[in-house]
Amino acid sequence: MRVTEYFEKAKGDTLVSFEVLPPLKGGSMQAIFDALDPLMEFKPPFIDVTYHREEFIYKRRASGYYEKTAIRKRPGTVGICAAIMHRYGVDAVPHLLCGGFTKQDTENALIDLAFLDVQNVLALRGDARKFEGKFIPEPEGHHYASELVEQITDMNKGKYLDELVNGDEATKTNFCIGVAGYPEKHFEAPNLEIDLRYVKKKIEAGADYIVTQMFFDNQKYFDYVDACRAAGINVPIVPGLKPLTKLYQLTSIPRLFHVDLPEDLVKAVTKAKDAEGRRRAGIEWCIAQSKELKERGVPCLHYYTMGDSSTIHQIASAVH
Ligand code: FAD
Repeated sequence: MRVTEYFEKAKGDTLVSFEVLPPLKGGSMQAIFDALDPLMEFKPPFIDVTYHREEFIYKRRASGYYEKTAIRKRPGTVGICAAIMHRYGVDAVPHLLCGGFTKQDTENALIDLAFLDVQNVLALRGDARKFEGKFIPEPEGHHYASELVEQITDMNKGKYLDELVNGDEATKTNFCIGVAGYPEKHFEAPNLEIDLRYVKKKIEAGADYIVTQMFFDNQKYFDYVDACRAAGINVPIVPGLKPLTKLYQLTSIPRLFHVDLPEDLVKAVTKAKDAEGRRRAGIEWCIAQSKELKERGVPCLHYYTMGDSSTIHQIASAVH
């Protein structure tokens, strides 16, 4: 079923969903099942699976020269989606990137997904590769997520890149398309107003709903929803949540995700006596955030598990 159909069917009740990362290469599918099995008691209608493109590393050879090597640390998004749907009977939402894909690669990936009966995708641009500094699309690839959304929408209308398959007989895919939104603006955007202009472009291209970047101050989410509505963006906006549980995250989260941490959260974490106290403080913060968002009737609470499903289980148990 399409993600937005779940929201319609819930008639104002707040659903819960999770995002998982593929295991590191060499890991097994069992790691995903071990993470998800306990979370299934919360009856998530859909589970997102992230996508990780290849990166390049430089290996020093005995000769002293450096060799450039491509590595993909977390392959397997499509296979994991199929396995999740098969094991749990819930919908899987693969993340699909512009980065690393030509339009032809994208078309082929979407055909694979449609054959597997995957009906939802989260369409993203992806970040710059570490050594590139700025996002560089593939030759014949998309520059922005809005272009990727356009391509998916075309396939939903039976319009493929390959002219030969177009025509009345061409199968129309039926993808429900999610896109990313940033309550504290995307870090490359000069300001929120300009960022929202491009979010609107994604919706006009056919996106059905938005999932937000994590935030730790609910007011930022409420203000973002108001700003979207004022800009004419009327699709469901799902809050993405991640608990902060470790001391180093006080600096790593703002650096990696370009979000602010409220002073009260920082104080609660830093004044805790030990690691367990810090974890407890972060969990309590996320529970309070979740409860308020639920009271305000958000369509769904979407938790980023990031390999720590026991923490998410504790939060979801307190809220749902
Ligand atoms: P876009 O919507 O294309 O926006 C990127 C930037 O370009 C923004 O600053 C925007 O304002 C600007 N812009 C957009 N259109 C135009 C235009 N026409 N002209 C000029 N400027 C424009 N990354 C992964 O690698 N794998 C994942 O699985 C993944 N999952 C994610 C899930 C969520 C919920 C979120 C919030 C992010 C996720 N990301 C993931 C990170 C994401 O790929 C990065 O944040 C990336 O930098 C931006 O992606 P986007 O889809 O928001 O890009």
